[in-house]
Amino acid sequence: MSERITDLIHHAYVPPAGFEAPQLGVFKASTVFFPTVAAMRSREWKDKTAYTYGLHGTPTSYALEERLATLEGGEQCLLVPSGLAALGLVALSLLKSGDEVLLPDNAYGPNKSLVEGELLGWGITHQYYNPMDPEDLEAQISSRTKLVWLEAAGSVSLEFPDLVEMVRICQRRKVLTALDNTWGAGLAFAPFDLVPGASPAVGVDISAHALTKYPSGGGDVLMGSVITRDAGLHLKLKLTHMRFGIGVGMNDVELVLRALPSIALRYRAHDVAARELAAWAQTQAEFVQVLHPALEESPGHAHWKALCSDAEGRAAGLFSVILDARFGRAQTDAFCDALQLFRLGYSWGGPISLVVPYELETMRSGWPAHLLPGTLVRFSIGLEDVADLQADIAQALQVLR
Ligand SMILES: *Cc1c(COP(=O)(O)O)cnc(C)c1O
Repeated sequence: MSERITDLIHHAYVPPAGFEAPQLGVFKASTVFFPTVAAMRSREWKDKTAYTYGLHGTPTSYALEERLATLEGGEQCLLVPSGLAALGLVALSLLKSGDEVLLPDNAYGPNKSLVEGELLGWGITHQYYNPMDPEDLEAQISSRTKLVWLEAAGSVSLEFPDLVEMVRICQRRKVLTALDNTWGAGLAFAPFDLVPGASPAVGVDISAHALTKYPSGGGDVLMGSVITRDAGLHLKLKLTHMRFGIGVGMNDVELVLRALPSIALRYRAHDVAARELAAWAQTQAEFVQVLHPALEESPGHAHWKALCSDAEGRAAGLFSVILDARFGRAQTDAFCDALQLFRLGYSWGGPISLVVPYELETMRSGWPAHLLPGTLVRFSIGLEDVADLQADIAQALQVLR
């Protein structure tokens, strides 16, 4: 993965003549001039060797697309206004009335909301599979299944699935796979090459990524990407992208371009801090289970270890705890309210640590069998001093004692 980071930073950008700086200009335009009518007629908006209209991209967005494809090991990339828009674009492009889509039961909540809302209204059905059971996934594939969503680790409860086996099943059954790769960010594992050296490659067809999280890193941009390795599949997504007009603003693109060279360092820092705090959380009696893929007690730990282990293994900056069932909702809320450095707020990937108590039972098809009973609180670790964060959780725990 380290070579990809170097390629990402040494990306072949050609600066304007006479201004040899490595930083890109921020090119903003709706109109692009054509020298002649003949040029206007012959230039194709789908062809990225030239420009036709701002919505289809400028040198700034082309550069970000190429760098993100490099980061994730893909070939083509589309930018959309949010991570959720990336999930929506995949669905809108690939599903039609009569089709079925499969999602893991621990999928990102708003993606479940999309399939239960608009998609169902358009005659597209869905099933939720057990993310810890590839056989359950396989059993739910039918002739109507046109897309399988994957998430590693899963949202909020952070179970790590047997991604390799699930992708193999979908490849054998010839069903397209789309991974929500926000957690892995192109750093924890290579989504298009899950088994190094395998031929044909064992990899997902589509990687969707909320750039809002680690690629932005600042908590000040909302953006998403959809990366592929197949030109035909990319074109299908691109046509839908064009028809819906869901482009992005170049000032936002600039912010992501500026943050991208430090993504590996930041991801590592979030990871190290989260693991240190998760290990400490295991020693606190009020937490009956700590969910972080690098911990043995966390569901799917062995799958994480097999897929994400280079020298130290790689994981994002998230972990969740399950508070003992003797604490009710009010006490869990009081614990979260008592935190000072951890702020109450959604999202993750920025410098500030965040906390959210979840009513997990309302988000799943029942309380997952692999989790101990209790209430779930998710921490997202920012870039503060770890000792300060630990002291903050320790003082907040006093409200439960
Ligand atoms: C945050 C997130 C999204 C959505 O990203 P937004 O840019 O906030 O819309 C999608 N999937 C996962 C796993 C996320 O964490």
